[in-house]
Amino acid sequence: MNPLAQLPSVDRLLSDATVASLIDSHGRAVVTQLVRTALAEAREAARAGTAPPDAASLVGAVDARAAALATPNLRPVFNLTGTVLHTNLGRAPLPEEAIAALVDAARSPCALEYDIDTGGRGDRDDIVNDLLCELTGAEAATVVNNNAAAVFLLLNTLALKKEVIVSRGELIEIGGAFRVPDIMKRAGSRLVEVGTTNRTHLRDFREAITPRTAMLMKIHASNYTIQGFTHAVPESELAVLAHEHGLPFVVDLGSGTLTDLARWGLPHEPTPREAIAAGADLVTFSGDKLLGGPQAGLLVGSRDLLGRIKKNPLKRALRVGKLTLAALEAVLRLYRDPDRLGERLTALAQLTRPEAEIRAAAGRLLPALQAALAALPVSVEIAPLKSQIGSGSLPVDRLPSAGFAIRPQGKKSGVLHRIEAALRGLRRPVIGRIDDGALLLDLRCLAAGEETEFAAQLSTLSRPGA
Ligand SMILES: *Cc1c(COP(=O)(O)O)cnc(C)c1O
Repeated sequence: MNPLAQLPSVDRLLSDATVASLIDSHGRAVVTQLVRTALAEAREAARAGTAPPDAASLVGAVDARAAALATPNLRPVFNLTGTVLHTNLGRAPLPEEAIAALVDAARSPCALEYDIDTGGRGDRDDIVNDLLCELTGAEAATVVNNNAAAVFLLLNTLALKKEVIVSRGELIEIGGAFRVPDIMKRAGSRLVEVGTTNRTHLRDFREAITPRTAMLMKIHASNYTIQGFTHAVPESELAVLAHEHGLPFVVDLGSGTLTDLARWGLPHEPTPREAIAAGADLVTFSGDKLLGGPQAGLLVGSRDLLGRIKKNPLKRALRVGKLTLAALEAVLRLYRDPDRLGERLTALAQLTRPEAEIRAAAGRLLPALQAALAALPVSVEIAPLKSQIGSGSLPVDRLPSAGFAIRPQGKKSGVLHRIEAALRGLRRPVIGRIDDGALLLDLRCLAAGEETEFAAQLSTLSRPGA
């Protein structure tokens, strides 16, 4: 008998009860296509001599593919890498206040560029302008897509076909493709490097000023430090020198926190307020690094210079949408109450989470992880770990943390890579790191409210040793 004749028809499969429920959740078009594909593959296999699958296994294949198709590409994960502001995992998690604000803005029309008092047209920057001025001491502020865009827009507006003087020790590359010299070139400005990698003096800047100079610029060395025999010119001296020549002094802070992190036991990171107080005419920083908000680039400083920047037609191409502004406004409002900032600003809460609390979480979750990995030749222990802030912030500082160290019980470390992949394959992927012969899961960023979900899905870990 022809084995192909044993295969069910498309209609017969579509009337199967399980398939009908798949149609309810995924739609008829998708499921019909998956049924056709499954049947085509079965026919192909039968022609090659394989016994044709029965209806139940065809339905099973359709079910699995429908589930895979329905899984969003942008999925929540558990960030157990130990890097809090992880650029590849979306940087700062937003506080509840910001989430609520962005959901409201998403659902309803909102006064994005509309002045409710006069009924006239408004400026979207006005949504956060006063808050940013209040929190930084600046005269004016504007918001663009990210800090790279802020730096680009600033250079393109104020230094087109002109020279920008920067210390050689600050010509940085930030993960991905942000290299200061490349951005300058694309923005149409000429970079003038002064000083040496480790030492730059005020006279280096003074001697480089020409009629073609547009500005003096300082770039905060965010992802590395230079130690030893070093000298950098203080911002206040650069500001005085720039102003003596009628030039603006601008600072790219990268990760600008709006508060003194030392208050929370973290190392001090320069703030926009300090840069403005030191005489900077413009300061740029990211919204989603230490600030703890949505991806955005913030420019604060002189009203006059920002007026010119806002008139650049590229501002329109780089502007942010209402969801970003809604979240940013809510986050900035939290800074008005520094006493509660440590609990309410999620990124700050994660950065300041006490080691003892993280260790206690590890104690609660250890049995579930040990049970999930019991069949494998590995040991699972609670280990002291060091978290990093991430996103290039405070590069050398490490935060005492805790979590799990999974080590192979022999010399073979292949099992660690299989476990690492199996954890990534969970419904909500768990992202750890392999370091020094161990798979490390740092629990700093696992919120207390997520522990149940984390433990429950460990029991579904597909046999990573198989
Ligand atoms: C992170 C950083 C940038 C880029 O900021 P994005 O918000 O990632 O675009 C630019 N300059 C410095 C100094 C930085 O640290």
